[in-house]
Amino acid sequence: MKRQLQADVVVVGGGASGTAAAAAASAAGADVLLLERNPYLGGQATASQVPAFCGFCTHGDSWKQAVRGFGQEVLDQMAARGYFQDFTLSPSGNRIVPQDPEVTKIILEDLLDAHQVHYLFHAEVIDAEVKNGVIGRVICRDDEGTFTVSGRMFVDASGEANLAYVAKAPVEFHHEQKGSMMFRIGGISEGADLSPDAMQKAIQAAEQDGVQGITVHRGVMIPVQGTRDGLVNMIALDFPGLDAETMTAAEKLGRRQAALYTEIFRKYVPGMEHSYLVLTGPKVGLRESRRIVGLETLTREDVKSSRKRPDGIARGGWGAELHVGKGETQWGFERGDKYFDIPLNCLIPQGMQNLFCAGRTISSDLTASASIRVMGTGFATGQAAGAAAALACQGIRDVDAVRAELQKQHALI
Ligand SMILES: Cc1cc2nc3c(=O)[nH]c(=O)nc-3n(C[C@H](O)[C@H](O)[C@H](O)COP(=O)(O)OP(=O)(O)OC[C@H]3O[C@@H](n4cnc5c(N)ncnc54)[C@H](O)[C@@H]3O)c2cc1C
Repeated sequence: MKRQLQADVVVVGGGASGTAAAAAASAAGADVLLLERNPYLGGQATASQVPAFCGFCTHGDSWKQAVRGFGQEVLDQMAARGYFQDFTLSPSGNRIVPQDPEVTKIILEDLLDAHQVHYLFHAEVIDAEVKNGVIGRVICRDDEGTFTVSGRMFVDASGEANLAYVAKAPVEFHHEQKGSMMFRIGGISEGADLSPDAMQKAIQAAEQDGVQGITVHRGVMIPVQGTRDGLVNMIALDFPGLDAETMTAAEKLGRRQAALYTEIFRKYVPGMEHSYLVLTGPKVGLRESRRIVGLETLTREDVKSSRKRPDGIARGGWGAELHVGKGETQWGFERGDKYFDIPLNCLIPQGMQNLFCAGRTISSDLTASASIRVMGTGFATGQAAGAAAALACQGIRDVDAVRAELQKQHALI
């Protein structure tokens, strides 16, 4: 392999957690390279059009902000461009930040440029060279063939724990939670009722009229600011594996389901008579797949009891939003205005010396994973992974030092 790159900290994945990790590592003094296989940043926010940044705030009337740091930089950029004024109250009573994927792509690029992060698109990590739990370099692929990237520390922010997997770190695979094909509908008249109840009524009416192929009855449609579009989250897809055959079947089914529900809404929802399908995906979205087996595992009890800890490096404020069974939203339990702490050890896979994990990959049980996977919390665990990786390059492996660095970077811990 002729092409060889290197950096102090190599981040795999440019979603919420990867962008935060890269910015944080750079802010803590490391030379950073981020590798992303998509042609843009944002992860599922842009590739799967998830409609809103969740997890920035705790729940309830006396809610408070649980995530700042790099996540706040994203909100500030959205505000400066007129895409964020204040948190929006969702149908589930949570404070969320509706996002436009096209705006998010550019904001994240601008932020990584400002943080002097080197990032490459079309760069897929396909293998890793590992000795005694130390990753020496990763093997990447683009359309010119393969190239290597050496690093002192690595961050797996790939959503699917793809780096941990190829590095043979301990991982578990779960698919209790359903994924989805998100879709964007345009041409919605002003004032149309887009509530879950209105969607359900329309689907029931279609069912009574004999429309075939309906698999879910309720969903959420979030308007995209400044447009007549809505991002729809309702289709349930199972992912028993991550192989090409499984993914192809899910993409095909998801697209057909999106076309079906668009047709139903056009016919049965007042104010959607002129609506049309703008976009599916582009990729199916996964809520659950691989996660690492960490030095510690975040549990349902930690989330439910809002457990605080001296080694906390990020705050989780989102409820346990489970999409099990038929895939429709179920809340594991009511969460008040409290948050729980996520310990650094949940980001470190057992047996690995120079790998931190972030976002959806961190060590957690089903219920805890259903809480920490949202993007607001992903920004926070990513920032922590990046800061910890940069400090480890300086020989500092002390959780208090990581916490101090995060405070310096205005993260909430
Ligand atoms: C249908 C659906 C709706 C959701 N709704 C919301 C919502 O409204 N609000 C919310 O906050 N969260 C929502 N979520 C959850 C949230 O989108 C994800 O959990 C979150 O995006 C995880 O962030 P991440 O950074 O861990 O991973 P991702 O966003 O998945 O980013 C991972 C990145 O890594 C890249 N990558 C993977 N493997 C490699 C490789 N080998 N080489 C190079 N790059 C690689 C991927 O291309 C991707 O860009 C939803 C999820 C789904 C599926």
